[in-house]
Amino acid sequence: MIRTRFAPSPNGSLHLGHAYAAIVAHDLAREAGGDFLLRIEDIDGARSRPELAGEFRADLAWLGLAWDGEVLQSARLGRYAEAGERLKEMGLLYPCRCTRAEIAQAAREIGPDGPVYPGTCRNRAVEIGGGVSWRLDVGKALERTGPLSWEDRIAGMQQARPQIFGDVVLLRKDAPASYHLAATLDDAADGITLVTRGADLFAATHIHRLLQALLDLPVPAWHHHPLLLDEDGRKLAKRRNAPSLADRRASGEDGWALAASLRGGNFPAGISLSGILHRAP
Ligand code: GLU
Repeated sequence: MIRTRFAPSPNGSLHLGHAYAAIVAHDLAREAGGDFLLRIEDIDGARSRPELAGEFRADLAWLGLAWDGEVLQSARLGRYAEAGERLKEMGLLYPCRCTRAEIAQAAREIGPDGPVYPGTCRNRAVEIGGGVSWRLDVGKALERTGPLSWEDRIAGMQQARPQIFGDVVLLRKDAPASYHLAATLDDAADGITLVTRGADLFAATHIHRLLQALLDLPVPAWHHHPLLLDEDGRKLAKRRNAPSLADRRASGEDGWALAASLRGGNFPAGISLSGILHRAP
């Protein structure tokens, strides 16, 4: 049975881009008689405002989307720590104290998330204690798993190339787990069979596929959907240019009608759908 999820982070109100993402996840599940879950990704330390979860629920209901279950990441901290320990025991994580500025200066390449960490602490003795992050030795991890592939329902089969990110942080010093580790573990724990999300997270799937192989997790299929863009061709952003769904709701707009328009590809003035269904990497 198909099971999808919508996984907003409660660090700001939802906007039309989120409505579109939620509709894609909801409709793909419903068309196949499957389940649609809501997952609140509320472990982003200081940025997280758990009280927004109520607003998100009201937004989804206003759009006419019903969900079959709800998960809070903050209830899952034990799982993240356990997986971190397991990867440490496998010798695949190493501690790092480099700052963003140091990394930006030492980096020789730009990856999907910015400057690629050049492996400074990989073979260094770093004192473990408060303020340390744990990075995945991606080269060593790939030696262990061998080549991996994954399927995007729009873009087709992909060779996993997690190395384009460099050695990513899996256990953050300022939060219980990185997005990559938490999302991968949650999708497995929730029995998600089709991971739907925006094409801006396409490359992240290379890392997620590697984590699945290392942690013996089931492998879902993915559907990376196009993004809603503003007049300048930029992705809608919470703090920049997008009126929130909560504001639209409060102004008396009809949420069902809005959802129907988004489904039909009729977007409000100035908003368009990216033609990019996937991007390399
Ligand atoms: N929490 C992420 C976001 O709000 C979504 C992650 C995902 O769907 O994998 O962008």
